[in-house]
Amino acid sequence: MAIQTRQGASVAGVRPVEPLRTEDPDLWRLIQRDRRRHTLTLNCIASENYASRAVLEALASHMNVKYAEGYPRARYYQGVGIVDDVETLAIERAKALFGAEHANVQPYSGSPANMAAYFALAEPGATLLGMELSHGGHLTHGSPVSFSGKLFRVVSYHVDPATEQIDFDEVERLAREHRPQLIVAGYSAYPRTIDWAAFRRVADQVGARLVADIAHIAGLVAGGVHPSPIPYADVVTTTTHKTLRGPRGGLILCRQEHARAIDRAVFPMLQGGPHLSQIAAKAVCFKEAATPEFQAYAAAVVRNCQALAEGLLQAGFQLWAGGTDNHLLVVKLLDRPFTGAEFARALETAGIITSKSTIPGETRKPTQTSGVRFGTPALTSRGATEAHMRTLAELVAAVADNLQDAAALARLRRRTEELARELQPV
Ligand SMILES: *Cc1c(COP(=O)(O)O)cnc(C)c1O
Repeated sequence: MAIQTRQGASVAGVRPVEPLRTEDPDLWRLIQRDRRRHTLTLNCIASENYASRAVLEALASHMNVKYAEGYPRARYYQGVGIVDDVETLAIERAKALFGAEHANVQPYSGSPANMAAYFALAEPGATLLGMELSHGGHLTHGSPVSFSGKLFRVVSYHVDPATEQIDFDEVERLAREHRPQLIVAGYSAYPRTIDWAAFRRVADQVGARLVADIAHIAGLVAGGVHPSPIPYADVVTTTTHKTLRGPRGGLILCRQEHARAIDRAVFPMLQGGPHLSQIAAKAVCFKEAATPEFQAYAAAVVRNCQALAEGLLQAGFQLWAGGTDNHLLVVKLLDRPFTGAEFARALETAGIITSKSTIPGETRKPTQTSGVRFGTPALTSRGATEAHMRTLAELVAAVADNLQDAAALARLRRRTEELARELQPV
């Protein structure tokens, strides 16, 4: 293909310089359509969030090019002086933000961060005690379809059926019985505060390492509205794109004693070259998360979620553990004639974007479920308030009352859109 250079000469093979809109209009239009979808709907997916313009700018920078296998000042490539500074800045900011002794900013995402943590602390075949997936755990906490279930001997703990909160009697009993090398705490669908000290006590009783996976709540921890696991856990893993509002990516924090093992597990054991544009964007995210504005954001996320919970309870919904302490809640549908999948689909028709979720005491298949998970991080990033949450709760209740009525759902969709237009565009 012949391409015009800046001087106007036609040269074969030079990289195209057209903006996306002209370079690839088909893809550009899809991106615009999806952006509009976000702007005109209410994103209640608990794991999603809108990163800042500065984060996205760093993510889209030329740093995408650089190969820098290794760590700052110990690389396999030349041309790394500046990216060493970038990675070091990200590391120092992550350590300061969470008060950690060591940080590894290279994990591509939350799942590889967990894999690295497990391999740093234990050998394949070791026993891992993690939360059952259907009770709010993550695939990487021992599900048989994940590497964690294939490479480790998994024992699962659960929530107490009465309180729907972590059953520490069971955690302790299972730990004594199975003597796990690894205990994993931190969840994808758990609406209550996690008692890190209680996990530490159990880990100490049996000589286990404690991994705290704060993928969902990292922003709440950084913002000071959820207790930090740093004083209790051997290793803390997280994503950077959920409540932390950064680029998609992972982060591992640990005590100095595990620093070398963690770094080696990330590279060269599991990953190749670090994604430096992503690391640059993480550095921006950590800077933003250290501000008073971010603390206010984290507090607003929780307040909004509690307002949504109140509205839903008033509308007659049952909630997992009766409510929420954090950024998410799970509506239980055991008393309803419809499934989580059906409800989530109808909600989407009405412009409310959620995800179905299994719940404690689940009676339906994982593809159907009896729960729907709601989260407030994304809407709060667009400026939503408790008043918006009360309206949202009413809309959700109206969807449940009109599940089969296409005309009613279309009317609700217009109300949702009105509400969405009051918020910051995406
Ligand atoms: C989202 C999540 C992860 C994995 O993150 P990915 O970036 O999707 O790989 C790990 N643990 C928990 C608890 C999560 O919620």
